[in-house]
Amino acid sequence: TTEAKSTMENGRILVFVRLRPVAKKEREAGSRCCVRIVNKRDVYLTEFANENDYLRLKRLCGRHFTFDASFPDSTTQQEVYSKTTAGLVEAVLQGRNGSVFCYGATGAGKTYTMLGTTDNPGVMVLAIKDLFSKIQQSSFDENHTVHLSYLEVYNETVRDLLSPGRPLVLREDKQGIVAAGLTQYRACSADEVMALLQQGNLNRTTEPTRANETSSRSHAILQVVTIPNFCNNLISSASYKYPLLCKVQVVVKYQVKGASGNVVNRVGKLSLIDLAGSERAIATDQRTLRSLEGANINRSLLALSSCINALVEGKKHIPYRNSKLTQLLKDSLGGACNTVMIANISPSSLSFGETQNTLHWADRAK
Ligand code: ADP
Ligand code: MG
Repeated sequence: TTEAKSTMENGRILVFVRLRPVAKKEREAGSRCCVRIVNKRDVYLTEFANENDYLRLKRLCGRHFTFDASFPDSTTQQEVYSKTTAGLVEAVLQGRNGSVFCYGATGAGKTYTMLGTTDNPGVMVLAIKDLFSKIQQSSFDENHTVHLSYLEVYNETVRDLLSPGRPLVLREDKQGIVAAGLTQYRACSADEVMALLQQGNLNRTTEPTRANETSSRSHAILQVVTIPNFCNNLISSASYKYPLLCKVQVVVKYQVKGASGNVVNRVGKLSLIDLAGSERAIATDQRTLRSLEGANINRSLLALSSCINALVEGKKHIPYRNSKLTQLLKDSLGGACNTVMIANISPSSLSFGETQNTLHWADRAK
C-alpha cells in the first residue's frame, strides 16, 4: 500500500486512528457520539450534540486532527491490517525490522485490534497468516523459518506469556537486548497461532481486585522473527529436536553481502504490541519519571512516549534505556525500522477526555 511504502522511504512513524462502535453499555447510559471521521483521514471531536453544531464547529474553528488514515467504526479487521501492517510484513522478509503499536485508553479497542476474536482475528493473527502465504510465494527465493515469542511487561517485570513462570531478565549481548530464557515457538502454519495467542493472553497479569480482567497496566508484545533457511546453521540445533514448542537461540543479526556489495541484515523481526491503557500516563506527562513511580504510573508507556518524541524530533539520542518496553524494542523502533502507531478511540461522550488525550498524543507522534 502507499502508506506502507512511505514509511520505508523516509523512516517516519505512520499514525492511524481507529474508532470503535458504540458499546451497548454506553448507549444504555445515554451517551452521545462525539467523534466524526471524514474522508477516511480527518477526525473531528465535538462536545456538541447535534449535526448542526458539528457543522458549525467544522466551519468556525476547523479544529480537527489528520492522520495517515482514520478508520471509521465500520472498518474491518482485514482493512486495518492491510493499511497499517501488510507493508511491514513484506519488509520483515527482506530483513527490515518493524513494530506496530496499539495505543489508547482501556476499553478503546486495542486488544480487539491486535488479537481480535476467533471469528474476527486481529492484526497479530492476520500478519502471521500473511507471512506464511508470502513465504509460500515464489517471489521469496529462499524459504524462511518463523519463530514467535509472546511476552508481557507489567510493572517493569518481563514475563513469558507462552510459558509462564519466573520473571525474565533482560541481557545485553552481541545480538542486542534479549530476554534470557524466553520461549520461542517455531511456527509452521497460521492456524495454530490464534489458539496460542489466546492462551497467552489468558496468562496476562490481572489486577488483584478484578481477577478475570486483564490488567490495564500490562503491555503484551508478540515478536515474530523470520530467518532465511540458509541462516539455519546459526540457530542452535535444539530447534530441530522438537517440532513445535522449543527453546531456540535466535540469531537476531545475521548479515550477508547484498548484490551491490553492501552488508544487509537478512533476519527480520516484527513486533506487535498491545500497550497498557493510556489513561493514567497522559495526565501526568509533565512529571519526572521518579515522581511517577510513587504515583503508580506506567513507566514503560512514558518511556515509549519519550522515545517516539525524540525520534519525531530527529534527536540523536533516543532514551531506550529508561524502561523494559523500550529496551525490548530497541532494535525495532526508529532508525531503519518501520514504525506504525494505531490510536484506538471510543465514540462515546463519556470518554471525551480520554479520546482528546489520545488524539493529541497521536498527533505528536506524526
Ligand atoms: P482495550 O484492549 O483497549 O481495553 P478492547 O479491545 O478489549 O479494549 O475493547 C473493548 C470492547 O469493545 C471489547 O468488548 C471489544 O470486543 C469491543 N470492540 C473494540 N473494538 C471493536 C471493533 N472495532 N468492533 C467491534 N467491537 C469492538
Ligand atoms: Mg486490552
